[in-house]
Amino acid sequence: MTPAHLIILLVIFCPLVLTPWLADKKGRSPIVWFVAAFFLSWLALIAIAVLKPSQSTAAGWAPVSPQQSMPPLPGVCPRCGTRLNPGFVVCPRCGLNTTTGR
Ligand SMILES: [Zn+2]
Repeated sequence: MTPAHLIILLVIFCPLVLTPWLADKKGRSPIVWFVAAFFLSWLALIAIAVLKPSQSTAAGWAPVSPQQSMPPLPGVCPRCGTRLNPGFVVCPRCGLNTTTGR
């Protein structure tokens, strides 16, 4: 194998590896983007590189329940947002005491 072959292999395989990886990091389907990279090669890699993470769009269409818009939620840790079982005073995740606030 000559260096030229290596470069050609890199040019072909870079999008196939990087596109699903980037898609996964951005919260998108790696399989869909692997297929896109298979057909579009570097175009798909560039497309996923410039695309914004899907978290912003997910937050955009996520239905906001009336309970979520009320700031102090009983049953939810005010520091880390972990759902607390009824009767729980100390958050199991961050250790916050919800009655004393520390
Ligand atoms: Zn907590």
